[in-house]
Amino acid sequence: MPGPSGADATSTEAQLTEHGINPASLPSAPAQPTRRQFRDRVTAVRLAPCALCGEAGAATRVIPTAAGPCWLDLCWPHVRTLTRPSTTVPDTLEGVLADLHRAIEESETATGVRLPVLLWTDNAGDREA
Ligand SMILES: [Zn+2]
Repeated sequence: MPGPSGADATSTEAQLTEHGINPASLPSAPAQPTRRQFRDRVTAVRLAPCALCGEAGAATRVIPTAAGPCWLDLCWPHVRTLTRPSTTVPDTLEGVLADLHRAIEESETATGVRLPVLLWTDNAGDREA
């Protein structure tokens, strides 16, 4: 069954185990946590420890486990370790700029307003069509 983040418990637990985290050791979480509950968890005076290294956690999310939803608190280095790169986000500067150009063109088409955009890659603000 998909969890709050769209992942199923089996694949999430397999990923955690691969990184040395025992899912049974994670603190239980509400099935539908509110934004306030997330904010309170990462802004507490004593942050919950990272599930991997025990350092102060910097981010949290709720994951499905066989025992129910649990908080997964991680420090920033381990957030990056457990975050898979998106397959839809460009990973080159050229790709990012191409996406930006497409977004500008879509906005201009939708609004009929030409946006004055000056990128560091050109001097006049002119764009290739
Ligand atoms: Zn850590």
